Amino acid sequence: MPKKIWVIGGGLAGSEAAWQLANLGLEVVLFEMRPLKNTPAHTSDLLAELICSNSLKANYLENASGLLKEEMRRLNSLIIKVADETRVPAGGALAVDREKFARLITRQISEHPLIQVVREEITSVPPGQPAIIASGPLTSPDLSRWLKELFGEEYLYFYDAVAPIITSESLDYSKIFLASRYGKGEAEYLNCPFTEEEYQIFWESLVAAETYQAHLEVEKKKLFFEGCMPIEVLAKRGSETLRYGPLKPVGLTNPQTGKRPYAVVQLRAENRERTLYNLVGFQTNLRWGEQSRVFRMIPGLAKAEFVRYGVMHRNTFINTPRLLQPSLQGKRAEHLFFAGQLIGVEGYVESTAAGLVAGLNMAQWVNGRKPLIFPRETAIGALLYYIINAETRHFQPMNINFGLLPPLNRRIKDKTEKNREISERALAFLTEFMAKEIN
Ligand SMILES: Cc1cc2nc3c(=O)[nH]c(=O)nc-3n(C[C@H](O)[C@H](O)[C@H](O)COP(=O)(O)OP(=O)(O)OC[C@H]3O[C@@H](n4cnc5c(N)ncnc54)[C@H](O)[C@@H]3O)c2cc1C
Repeated sequence: MPKKIWVIGGGLAGSEAAWQLANLGLEVVLFEMRPLKNTPAHTSDLLAELICSNSLKANYLENASGLLKEEMRRLNSLIIKVADETRVPAGGALAVDREKFARLITRQISEHPLIQVVREEITSVPPGQPAIIASGPLTSPDLSRWLKELFGEEYLYFYDAVAPIITSESLDYSKIFLASRYGKGEAEYLNCPFTEEEYQIFWESLVAAETYQAHLEVEKKKLFFEGCMPIEVLAKRGSETLRYGPLKPVGLTNPQTGKRPYAVVQLRAENRERTLYNLVGFQTNLRWGEQSRVFRMIPGLAKAEFVRYGVMHRNTFINTPRLLQPSLQGKRAEHLFFAGQLIGVEGYVESTAAGLVAGLNMAQWVNGRKPLIFPRETAIGALLYYIINAETRHFQPMNINFGLLPPLNRRIKDKTEKNREISERALAFLTEFMAKEIN
């Protein structure tokens, strides 16, 4: 086995993975292609550059992102440590001075005696070379080509076209019915039936709603061209278009009226536990505030809780549930681990968490030990469980949210209190797991 471990991509995930490996005494070569070759979004040669917002989201335990960060703090995450050191005032969020943040990480990584930073684009990994691939949402085209060859074209995606995801407990089931079209197979979908009047009001609000300008305008056009239309663009073609497209009511009968509804929005389960649902066909560029306002007009969704809003942007990611083991290791190529946004987690902190776990598990593998599989009661464990076990046909990236963690044994009405208790449980599980498996 080659002595040094490769980490490909010096972004958030790659920097974290390299740090974890080196702190476990392993020699690492971290390959970053910038500044020799740039991505369409990065602007510097610094490692762990934040390419858009300077916020790492909420920093309190009543929020799932806050919980994820706290778990990572306890696991000695470099990225979270430096974020804490370079934070700027941002209320309950952990926002950073992006320049200081990336500079400090670059310095700490570059000065680590076991990490060698090499500025080079990697376009393939030699057979047998242990490597963590963390080349991010803007993975270079040549490396993408190699990944396609490795996995097969159908398992590598280049765009996110995500419909909003809402929690099942926030739905009004008195208005919604469970059925599949023409009664075929199991009743898999929740159906939100519109009357003609409700539909007209919804349609008018949808076409008038404000959209979000995608980061990469040119790419957005390509995305549309590829036939993945945002719901608002379809709606603008005419008031009837949606009724013949994603909102078609054919094959569905509302048990309350015994009739076919005027139009129907279908909700498809996002996870096996059916705690989360997505709005089928609702990939969108609407502003987030507009998504909550307009989509809550859908019957049964008046109080919908959005755990993730719809987005459409360039994003390279693999079909993780098909390709990776829970350790984030390839099913077929065990010497390859994957991390960051490339595996279908979404967001700075989620990507970093995947880097941390890939780093720890690469070290376990190299040392001939069993992989570390974090308990599902922790935010890290829940997020990774989701992406490993998600339905492969509709696999889309996911960010951390409480809907991914198992519910509590007792019912707590107050949401803040409930979330706090889920977080406390998570940290207790993490402490036990670390004591048994890591320390
Ligand atoms: C335009 C845009 C805006 C975004 N805005 C936000 C936001 O505001 N908040 C948020 O939480 N998330 C945002 N994201 C998602 C964000 O990219 C991720 O959360 C995070 O950066 C992913 O971390 P990563 O380490 O997987 O990838 P990155 O941080 O992108 O790191 C990957 C690194 O790999 C390098 N690389 C690529 N190919 C190669 C190669 N062949 N050889 C060597 N090096 C290579 C790249 O140069 C890069 O440095 C945005 C994504 C995009 C595309």
